[in-house]
Amino acid sequence: MQTHGDRLLESLRDGRTVWLDGEKVDVTRHPAFRGTLRTVKELFDTLSREDVRDRVGFVSPRTGQYVHRAFLVPRSPGDLKKRREAFEYWARATRGMMSRLSEYARSLVTGWYASREAFRRFDPQFPDKISRYYESARDGDRIVTTAILDPQIDRRQKVGESSDPDLFLRVVRRTEDGIVVRGAKMIATGAPYAHDVILTPHQRLVRDDPTYAHMLIVPLNSPGLHIICRESFASEDPDRHPLSALYDEMDAVLVFDDVLVPWERVFLLGQAEGVWFAHTHQPFNQLANHQTVVRLLAKLEFVAGVAVAVAQAVGVDGFLHVQEKLGELITQVETVRGLLAAAEGRAECNEEGVFVPAKVPLQTARNLGLSYYPRAMDILQQIAAGGLIQLPSTTVERSGEIQPLLQRYFRGAEVPAEDRVRLFLLAWDLVGSPLGSRHELYERFYSGDPLRTYAAQYVNDDHRRLTEEVWRFLESIKEGTA
Ligand SMILES: Cc1cc2nc3c(=O)[nH]c(=O)nc-3n(C[C@H](O)[C@H](O)[C@H](O)COP(=O)(O)OP(=O)(O)OC[C@H]3O[C@@H](n4cnc5c(N)ncnc54)[C@H](O)[C@@H]3O)c2cc1C
Repeated sequence: MQTHGDRLLESLRDGRTVWLDGEKVDVTRHPAFRGTLRTVKELFDTLSREDVRDRVGFVSPRTGQYVHRAFLVPRSPGDLKKRREAFEYWARATRGMMSRLSEYARSLVTGWYASREAFRRFDPQFPDKISRYYESARDGDRIVTTAILDPQIDRRQKVGESSDPDLFLRVVRRTEDGIVVRGAKMIATGAPYAHDVILTPHQRLVRDDPTYAHMLIVPLNSPGLHIICRESFASEDPDRHPLSALYDEMDAVLVFDDVLVPWERVFLLGQAEGVWFAHTHQPFNQLANHQTVVRLLAKLEFVAGVAVAVAQAVGVDGFLHVQEKLGELITQVETVRGLLAAAEGRAECNEEGVFVPAKVPLQTARNLGLSYYPRAMDILQQIAAGGLIQLPSTTVERSGEIQPLLQRYFRGAEVPAEDRVRLFLLAWDLVGSPLGSRHELYERFYSGDPLRTYAAQYVNDDHRRLTEEVWRFLESIKEGTA
């Protein structure tokens, strides 16, 4: 019987145009995608496996088949817990190293669907269109990704105000069947093996400009859509590069060389406020942010585990400054865990009957993650030090006639050389490999420009609760009542 994973792989032979190393490639056959797609298939197969499908899925009311819980509209604390369990299962299975497995973007779709009536004022067709899309994505197991930014060409320019037509994705024609769009978007992680991409302008528009003010969900096999991959960081050697062999989520730039987007996939057009509302709407954001924080926690836990194992393996865990650094990693983990619990504990049912996790703890966790992960890499480097380079080019088991020498000089304080070398190869894959560097960049930037995400935390905060107390105190000093 065909599993969810089998169907996924089959669905990717759909005429999509994926470019890698100057060639058009079939992602289901190319070695650069082999390990990653094996991982993604295994995750999708959790919905077919009787032993786990009730931890990651729920039964679609339409088809009676198991579908992913990212599509579950939370109506109670129990539903929110179910969503978290599903996110946790996939995040732990991938050590938090795969962030765009679609639960994030699927949650965005679920948020829009749950709040569809709030969009009616922008377009009366929105509720029906998003309902049809939500159901087809849920039941068709579609992988959805996002690509919010236009390419980094000239960041001085503003959308709708620039004379350079290449800077922002735009509508060049309307036809009976839909709109034709031209331009590019970066970065769309997972796009080579996703089905659909969510597109909205990144900047807030001031005018209801029908050229730029759109919200679209475009099929990634659309004619004229080029998916241009970065260099592959995938390894075919899991012994040497355990993470790169399994979890290289490919990043891509999308070029829309006059792509027809059918009306059914045009959710908003010429609606500046509607697009911004879609961008900032609470269920839409918080359901997705919930997933990113669950994933962040899994990743920080994994890194902390590697760091502790490294320290113990070479007997440095007894030194005070090493303990301090390991303590910092545990503090990171526990802070994010606490914020996640706070977001769930303070979840509220909104006027649409959706149980939404609290925004501020999620936003705080995401902002902390931007600096936590680079700091975690820094700590891992300081603890593992030259041990990251005191490595043979392969495992001890595969080292041929020098194996006895490796067993003697590459062992650890209390671990045999075979285990120490495997552990440090893993640490190097986190810290020093191309995939490792990409992850550091990812954690800094995936949620947007850190400068602006931090600033948003201030701008959106109710400052009065902070300042009122200060003014009260000064008043009491003035009056001598302090
Ligand atoms: C590996 C990776 C994967 C990603 N995957 C996705 C994805 O799947 N989907 C998605 O939507 N996004 C994704 N992103 C995020 C996105 O593509 C951008 O990287 C992110 O939004 C930051 O924009 P930028 O990289 O274009 O930086 P820029 O906006 O070009 O910023 C560059 C520098 O200039 C400064 N700067 C730029 N403009 C201003 C301004 N107006 N005022 C002050 N300072 C400014 C910034 O602070 C920064 O220091 C990913 C990012 C990475 C690194």
